[in-house]
Formats: sequence, C-alpha cells, structure tokens
Amino acid sequence: MAIKDYLGKHFNIDSKYIDLAVKAESDLIDAFSRFENIKKHNQYKVFKAMQDLKLSETHFIGSTGYGYGDKGRDVIDAIYAKVFGCEDALVRTNIVSGTHAISLALFGILRPGDELLSITGKPYDTLEEVIGTGVGNNNGSLADFKIGYKQVDLVKNNDGNLEIDLNSVVENICDKTKMCFIQRSRGYEWRESFSVDQIADAVKAIKKIKDDIVILVDNCYGEFTGIAEPTEVGADIIAGSLIKNPGGGIALAGGYITGKENCIRQIACRLTSPGIGKEVGASLGQNRNILQGLYFAPHVVCESMKGAAFCARMMELLGIETMPSSMAKRNDIIQSIKFNDEKKLIAFCKGIQKGSVVDAFVVPYPWDMPGYADPVIMAAGTFVQGASIELSADAPIREPYIAYVQGGLVYESVKLGVLSAIQIMKEENLL
Ligand SMILES: *Cc1c(COP(=O)(O)O)cnc(C)c1O
Repeated sequence: MAIKDYLGKHFNIDSKYIDLAVKAESDLIDAFSRFENIKKHNQYKVFKAMQDLKLSETHFIGSTGYGYGDKGRDVIDAIYAKVFGCEDALVRTNIVSGTHAISLALFGILRPGDELLSITGKPYDTLEEVIGTGVGNNNGSLADFKIGYKQVDLVKNNDGNLEIDLNSVVENICDKTKMCFIQRSRGYEWRESFSVDQIADAVKAIKKIKDDIVILVDNCYGEFTGIAEPTEVGADIIAGSLIKNPGGGIALAGGYITGKENCIRQIACRLTSPGIGKEVGASLGQNRNILQGLYFAPHVVCESMKGAAFCARMMELLGIETMPSSMAKRNDIIQSIKFNDEKKLIAFCKGIQKGSVVDAFVVPYPWDMPGYADPVIMAAGTFVQGASIELSADAPIREPYIAYVQGGLVYESVKLGVLSAIQIMKEENLL
C-alpha cells in the first residue's frame, strides 16, 4: 500500500493534507540538506571525543553509595568538555533539570553583593523564582542572598527582529557585574534564537569592557543545531538539560554544565558540598544511557530540525504564522506557531498528542505547572517523562496563543504528529 493510502486508512488523515505534506517536503530539500551537513560535523566531533578519551565498556559500569572512583562518570565529564570545547564539565543524573543546571551555575559563581546582568531580556519562566523576580519569597533565591539583578531588553533591528542591545549592555556593566547571562533559545517568547556568531559578538563586547565577567549561556535546545557551541567562541560556561538535545532521547534524566575549570569546580561545590565537589555522586547505572544518548544526539537533533521545518512549512501553507519561517537557519529546535486563538492552540496540541505512540489516547488540558505563572498545556507522548527532545508541543495559555513545538526522535513521528494536529483542527472546523 502506498504511504499516502496507509496514512489515510490507518490514521484517518485527509488526502489533501497528505498531498500538502508532499509539497512541503519538496519545498524543504535545501533546508534539509543544510541540517544534514550540521549533523555530520557534530557526529564526527562526538566520535572523535569518545575515541580520544578511550571510551571503553568498563565505563558503563556505574557506582553506588558515594560513587568514589566512578570512571564512567569521569569519562562522561571529559567527553562533554571535549565536545563543547571546554576545560571541564559536570554531567550528572542528579542535576534534576535544565533549571537546576542553570541555577547551580548562578549560585556556584555569584556571591552576596555581586550583580547578574541578563543581556537577552527576561530569562526563561522558571528562572524568575531562581533570580528572585517571581512571586516566591524567602525560598533561597539570588535576591535572598543579596545578589542583584539587572536585565537589558532586546531591541528591534531594521529587519524587525529582536537583537541584543550591545550599547545598553556596555552601559549597564558596572564594578558589581560578576556575570552576564545569555539565553540562546527563544524560550516562551516570540523571538528568534541567537546564533553562535551573535553570541560571539556579545562576548567580545562584554570582555572588552571587563574581561573577568563570567558569561553564562543557557544552552537549552541549542546543542548541535550549529557547527560550534557558545563555549567555542568565548562563553565561560553553558548549561542545559539531558532530556533535551544532548541526551539524544536515551538519557533518562539529568543536566550538564561545561566551561572553565575554576567555574566548574565552584559549581560542583554547590551541587554537592564545599570540599567534596566533583568527586562523589553515584551514577546509579546511568552512564551508558548518558553516553549512548550523546552518541545519538547530533542525529536526533537533525531529525528534530527537519521536523520543525516541516511543521513550519505545513502551517505556512495553511496560512498560519510561524517563527522561524520554514526556510530559515535554525539555532534551536523550537518551532513557534502563532494561532491568535485559544481553541486553535488547544486543538493543535491535542493533535500532537494523538500522533504520539505513548499515551496517544489521552487528551491534554492546560494546568498550573510548578514554576510557571500562566496555566500551561503540554502535549507529549514520550518514553521519558517530559522529555522535550521527543516530539512535544507546549504553550502557556496567554495571548497571542503561541504553541512551541519541539523534538522528535524520528522525523516521521513529527510528520505524523503535525498531520494529526491539522486533522483535528479541521474536524473542529478551525481551519
Ligand atoms: C527548557 C528550558 C529551560 C529549563 O529547563 P527545564 O529542564 O525545563 O527545567 C531553561 N531555559 C530554556 C531556554 C529552556 O528551553
């Protein structure tokens, strides 16, 4: 049976949308080959690091208890450091999320009286409580420890895109500025993600004013979307989640921080305890998953980028606004879709869920998630709970009703998810 008939017969997708998908894919030939090239570069980078550090079967044996002498844990740190072009790394299953990784980097480096300067506007939603600009009080935020915070909002350039306001960044750096913070990905904002070249320009401008400022990049969703990482162009530390890009869909939990050796040492002391640092922490059988996940990561990120571009092209062909556009260069794996309508947004998310293989039969609804100010709808049928390197769509329920779609271990899973979403929107008379 032809694929078209199969999708129609077994997934109840209208043939006109399957025809539209054929057109979308032929429009995307150049974009897809660009992603494939980036993948090749990153796959070889990962292979080289694994060979150079003499990865061996013995590294897959984990530790228990204190985790002293865990060779696998140490080789993972060394491989991550090499892949990201850094002196050292801290990759752990007991870093519970991306927010935790970033929070550790902030608390590890900043001291009372220091100031943190965000140069990409408002950081990701969950960081508000960490910084102390959220609703919580006396929960141990940076503000509770008398660490100051300033932010420089993004400005519109001539093309109408939001950009880092380097003049204002330079003006806002003072004696107290210990750290500058850059968010590479778009987060829950209607803006483009930043390329590593743009990050390089910001790093240069900041270091020219004060060369001992520590530059931290929230690298969530950015890993392996380009041929260089922020730490290869002068950022001091990057942090991210193992259930996003670098875990390759195989890591079961965890976060990473890579960067300058002295920074990683301070951050490790925050994760465990002063005087203990990196030397303890049982890997509890997760070393193999973390390593195998990294091995697959560039490939999986490529599948996700192809899926995101496909999603964008389909929406464009249906007259729905997207960011980035289907043909654009990508610096993260997220596809934003602006529905301007709560019903359309929710129907779309329901469809993404319906196209999954795990929990395809459940219907997602908005709920009050910890760490987020608005109710959030999350559509995800994933093998690893909440893993957004697997196909997922989420959205805070607020105007202008934007869905953020990301991930996809296998390109075809994204295609099925998007087709199911379009089909549900049609059945609810929303197209
Ligand atoms: C996902 C994300 C985070 C937080 O990661 P969690 O693992 O969800 O805590 C932070 N910043 C950005 C840009 C993200 O995409």
